[in-house]
Amino acid sequence: MKNNKTIDELKIEVESCSRCKLSTTRKKIVFGEGSSTPSIMFIGEGPGKNEDLQGRPFIGRSGELLTRIIVNGMGISRDEVFITNIVKCRPTVDMKMIKDRAPDPSELKACTPFLLEQLEILKPKVIVTLGSPATKFILKTTIGITKMRGIWGEYMGIPVMPTFHPSYVLRNGGDKSPLKKNVWEDIKKVMILLNMEIPE
Ligand code: SF4
Repeated sequence: MKNNKTIDELKIEVESCSRCKLSTTRKKIVFGEGSSTPSIMFIGEGPGKNEDLQGRPFIGRSGELLTRIIVNGMGISRDEVFITNIVKCRPTVDMKMIKDRAPDPSELKACTPFLLEQLEILKPKVIVTLGSPATKFILKTTIGITKMRGIWGEYMGIPVMPTFHPSYVLRNGGDKSPLKKNVWEDIKKVMILLNMEIPE
């Protein structure tokens, strides 16, 4: 079905959402941000503490790593891509709002229609899924990210490149981790597909 909404109209709709229990603990909804005609859409798991406070995706430590990959690695700005998550409010383990967790099935069921609408409206040329939950949802698989990363998949005709979530890279050695090299290898595949110049 054709979606006649604009991305701004969808954002207004999402901003008053109380479809799931995460609406009771969030500070701000994190709709996502970036180009309205993105070549690449990055999809992560869910907002963390900083994102929840500021209402913007990927602005904490893992966001810094993703931004470096986009800006220093790919040579483009964050404004040229679209960055979002499979759920738009922060999933936490308890009401103390200390630890993050993956979204549960009921939260995914309630929120992912918004992500599908974002994809329908924005029509990215390539999707990059960051981590297992986003990869499992977009590619309808139960296989974890370690086996899926670096292998092209497809969502509604759009090529999908799964790679590790930046926070997983940071938890496992950060800049020195071989996982970061893995992410860069995956990103280079995306750049090749989009005919982007790869730095030496
Ligand atoms: Fe609504 Fe999604 Fe937030 Fe749940 S996580 S309240 S479905 S916007």
